[in-house]
Amino acid sequence: MNLKILVTAGDGIGPEVTGEAVAVLKEVAALGGHDFAFMEKRIGGVAIVEDGTPLPQDTLDAALASDAVLLGAVGGNEFNALPPDKRPEGGLLAIRAALGGFANLRPCFSFKELTVNSPLRPEVIEGTDILFVRELLGGAYFGKPREWNKETGTAFNTMIYRREEVARVARVAFELARQRRKKVTSVDKANVLEVSQLWRATVTEVAKEFPDVTLEHQYVDAMAMHILNRPRDFDVVVTENLFGDILTDESGVITGSLGMLPSATIGGKVDLYEPVHGSAPDIAGKGLANPLGAILTAGMILRLTAKLEAESAAIRSAVRKVLEQGYRTADLARGNREGVTVLSTREMGAKVRETVKEQLSAAGR
Ligand code: NAD
Repeated sequence: MNLKILVTAGDGIGPEVTGEAVAVLKEVAALGGHDFAFMEKRIGGVAIVEDGTPLPQDTLDAALASDAVLLGAVGGNEFNALPPDKRPEGGLLAIRAALGGFANLRPCFSFKELTVNSPLRPEVIEGTDILFVRELLGGAYFGKPREWNKETGTAFNTMIYRREEVARVARVAFELARQRRKKVTSVDKANVLEVSQLWRATVTEVAKEFPDVTLEHQYVDAMAMHILNRPRDFDVVVTENLFGDILTDESGVITGSLGMLPSATIGGKVDLYEPVHGSAPDIAGKGLANPLGAILTAGMILRLTAKLEAESAAIRSAVRKVLEQGYRTADLARGNREGVTVLSTREMGAKVRETVKEQLSAAGR
């Protein structure tokens, strides 16, 4: 299997966590005789400093020539005064738009060993396995017109969707639900917003193509509560860009740390993979970052782009095993250090790699 992966590590903890994810991918490639080629390019704050723009052209060109892009995270407090499109986050929005992926997949699952890390009760969250499908190219983040008029003291954004944009992401959600527990929950605010009424009508129409999948609708405010009260009731959750951004961060509470959540963006020219968390400037460079979200993201590359299902499953099961053995990064050990060994970013990466190797070797791969 040949795979060209562009690594855009970005800022803060981005290089630390992508470094561990790449090391796991290299281990998988070595064991299976696969040819994975890695290239590195700048994005975000580091690119603003070096190249004067958050998304340099050669990064974009390299991305478009790759099979997958693995992005760390972008952002830093020193860039906060810049206008939105000049900030590191502008680079992220621009690469997402250029690659054209419209369906952002964000799995949210609870590892038994981490339920004690969550402020939610273990018996409520244990067994949670939700796949969020967030629309990534539309809504208020991209809608025009948009403006902050400092003279008049007014600002506005435009939350806009076309029927086709809703239908294509809904189809992705229904297809994925077919491979899982066959339930889709569509989240909107159709009691207030016209854009949500279009969303609901379109998802309901698309559902007719998937009679074997159950569809339910939820309002986003109610859903924010349901996710915390009864997360096990949800299988695939499809929603628009802004609501998805918020609900998926909220779901980090179930997993125990934002540092555990992987994501993939599909449907465009090149698949884009990134852990859900940001650049975490508060812990950058200290070896405290949890690399498991980035490593699980590498697992998504193997499943979705490389179609190496067994290798992808080995990564998830290695993460589970390492947690079962009591290994934690600092974010996973808060208030619960008894019987656990706290590891640095690198040590955690090495443990997972070792376990992936054991598992794949035992399986004869
Ligand atoms: P954040 O996700 O960076 O951090 C939130 C909290 O979670 C922090 O306390 C951080 O230490 C912790 N955390 C996050 N990831 C962790 C990990 N892997 N291991 C251990 N702890 C982890 O969000 P923020 O603080 O709101 O934003 C910081 C910067 O990141 C900002 O500039 C923001 O714009 C940017 N950001 C970027 C992305 C992205 O690149 N995809 C996403 C969100 C935020």
